[in-house]
Amino acid sequence: MIRYENLKKVNEATVPNFKKVFSSFWNSGSYILGKHLKTFEHNFASFLNSKYAVGVNSGYDALFLSLKCLNLPKNSEVIMSSCSYIAALNAVLANNLKPVLVEPDINTYTIDPNKIEKKITKKSKAILITHLYGRSCQMDQIINIKKKYKLFLIEDCAQSHGSRYKNKFTGTFGEFGCFSFYPTKNLGGLGDGGIVTTNQKKFFKNLNYLRNYGFKKKNFTEIIGFNSRLDDFQAAFLNKKLKKLNSMNKHKIKLAKIYDKHLTDKVVKPAPSENGENVYHIYPIRYKNRKNLINYLKRNKIEVSCHYPVAPHKQNSLKKIINKSFLISEEIHKSVISLPISFSHSEKDIRLVCKIINKFV
Ligand SMILES: *Cc1c(COP(=O)(O)O)cnc(C)c1O
Repeated sequence: MIRYENLKKVNEATVPNFKKVFSSFWNSGSYILGKHLKTFEHNFASFLNSKYAVGVNSGYDALFLSLKCLNLPKNSEVIMSSCSYIAALNAVLANNLKPVLVEPDINTYTIDPNKIEKKITKKSKAILITHLYGRSCQMDQIINIKKKYKLFLIEDCAQSHGSRYKNKFTGTFGEFGCFSFYPTKNLGGLGDGGIVTTNQKKFFKNLNYLRNYGFKKKNFTEIIGFNSRLDDFQAAFLNKKLKKLNSMNKHKIKLAKIYDKHLTDKVVKPAPSENGENVYHIYPIRYKNRKNLINYLKRNKIEVSCHYPVAPHKQNSLKKIINKSFLISEEIHKSVISLPISFSHSEKDIRLVCKIINKFV
């Protein structure tokens, strides 16, 4: 049996180091906004070569609070991909902003930079990109558009911890990099968590106020804030796991190369990645008769997943609000299957998955 994911095994490598720091955390008696959070924020920012990082409750909160920081007029337009996870769309709507969807590139699954300019209007204020499945978006073109039209740029990096575009880390191109530490992510915690990276001091300060009820000084609020603090417990664990991020990503990249090489071309494999632009949060393939292949794999004791079976704009919660077709995104959502590619898998596991799929198609 090859499971899709085994988080206990993934985290086992971090546990011995965490146990040591856990007793210091426990003995401190300080669990919120304490020294472990400060240390982790510092280390996460340095890892990416970003000036600042602010720990929050989740990847969603990272997106929501970043948009809140910009204080944009109601109904300002935010350009984003029609092929993504639902979090970014919900965060835009919760800020009373208007999502303007752009189709993805069918080869990379990230926003198609050639289709952005057509969607820009006087009300466009920001671009919110998702480095989907672990692959960096095509940043040269996106940065040019950002500059030309003076748009803010928010990066959803919930699937791209450690991925780089031309050697620069995702999460450092725009005003904000928004990361999730949901347990299955490339850098996953032991529960919920998230972080925002930024290079601007004013945003750093504002995010600190917003995540803590708007307190600027103890007991005095100047703005209306929220409660979204990353727990010291999670920060202490993540700080130890961060040291392993590069090697965990390298392992996933190695497994991806096995799929690239040995898996039949009768399924659509991800476009090649040579320079660390893809850290393979997942390994998505596409196959028309998805259901049959998934059932066949189940019979052969291989567990797969699907990110995601339904496009966000087709969800019942959103289809009335968006009310348009995005055929490329729909095509991807209809046919995508996520194959096992965890730090917990061996090269042998992956070769077996290849062999079994190759027999089917
Ligand atoms: C997981 C994920 C999020 C949300 O993160 P949470 O921590 O679960 O709130 C946002 N965007 C993308 C692309 C994700 O994969």
